Amino acid sequence: MTKIGIIICARYRDCGGGKCFRALRERVGAFSRYPASEPVEIVGYTSCGGCPGGNIELVPEEFRKNGATVIHLATGFIVGYPPCPDIRRFKAFIETAFGLPVVVGTHPIPQKYIDVHERLPFWKEGGMAELIEPLLRESDEIKTAYN
Ligand code: SF4
Repeated sequence: MTKIGIIICARYRDCGGGKCFRALRERVGAFSRYPASEPVEIVGYTSCGGCPGGNIELVPEEFRKNGATVIHLATGFIVGYPPCPDIRRFKAFIETAFGLPVVVGTHPIPQKYIDVHERLPFWKEGGMAELIEPLLRESDEIKTAYN
């Protein structure tokens, strides 16, 4: 069984996880990689701890002890203003230090964010385009449904 730990951007630390848990149930966004027939379990959900993300150093170990097989960095990392500047370092650190694969994203990117970000010249700089490409493949209908 896939066991997932979710880390969210602390700017949204009070978020109730509505879109993330809905997306997991609907197997859309970054969760489309898990077939609907495959059981999954959320084994942890927390924030990065706030800039510069001190909890990234600690919480993956707690997730791993609870059986995590994969970690998702929530979609808020890439749709906030500004997008998290350290997301690539976080992904590399977690994968190197804890041996857990890191998936960028949780729920689909809401279309209303894409509409604004696409007009910002810096959104896809520094490797971000590569990170978000799988999420951008989502259908417009679904992205709009997550506005
Ligand atoms: S921008 Fe990055 S480091 Fe800062 S709170 Fe959000 S995820 Fe954490």
